Amino acid sequence: MADFRTHLIVGTAASGIGAGALLSIGLLSAAHAPACFALGAIGALLPDVDLDHSIPARVAFSLVALAGAFALVLALAPRWSLAELALAGAAAWLVLRHGVFGAINRWTVHRGLVHSLPAAAAFALATVLAAQRLYGLPVEAAWLAGGFLGAGFVVHLLLDEIYSVDLLGRRLKRSFGTALSFGDPRNLPGTLALYALAGGLYWLCPPAGGLGQRLLDAGLYRQLGARLLPAHGWFEGLPGLALEGLRRLL
Ligand SMILES: [Zn+2]
Repeated sequence: MADFRTHLIVGTAASGIGAGALLSIGLLSAAHAPACFALGAIGALLPDVDLDHSIPARVAFSLVALAGAFALVLALAPRWSLAELALAGAAAWLVLRHGVFGAINRWTVHRGLVHSLPAAAAFALATVLAAQRLYGLPVEAAWLAGGFLGAGFVVHLLLDEIYSVDLLGRRLKRSFGTALSFGDPRNLPGTLALYALAGGLYWLCPPAGGLGQRLLDAGLYRQLGARLLPAHGWFEGLPGLALEGLRRLL
């Protein structure tokens, strides 16, 4: 499996490239792009949430829990006083870091249920639901937010699978096939419960509207291809942009 540093770097880069591409063809708005980028990077760390003994993993999950707590604080900020927000934020951090991640740790085997495609779906759908219900994001933006988290998660699983192939010896390591899994064969009741959870979350999520159709539209990919290289000269208007930047600074 890939180490923590590789997951952090590849996940962040993949999420940034994805957000940049969708932004350039207008599928993602500038207002929602930073959050989607961050969710993609977080998604790329989530599958190893049950790997608690390494220091980077512990730091990462404290950070993910902190990000979750602040997400709640920001959602409640218009309504509550700063004191109430501080208490709610601290409580949310405790519940996430020690409650949710702690329970996942105690009840799962690494490379068990959490390290699987149905878990990716469940985390992504929970994100869609939170983005729409808690933040009042438009339906398409909420689905994109969940999509970024889920895609980051899948990037992690793929990366672990790639690392299980010994590239020099062309041998398959024993871990091959365990990263990109559809569940845990040793834990059938848990696997079924995970599928039921994902199904329930999907049922609660708002219909994705025209987003699926737009993603399948061939025109979108022609547009992406057209945006790949400059239409006129390279770095058109760069001197003007640099001058404008300087003028604002001075
Ligand atoms: Zn992993």
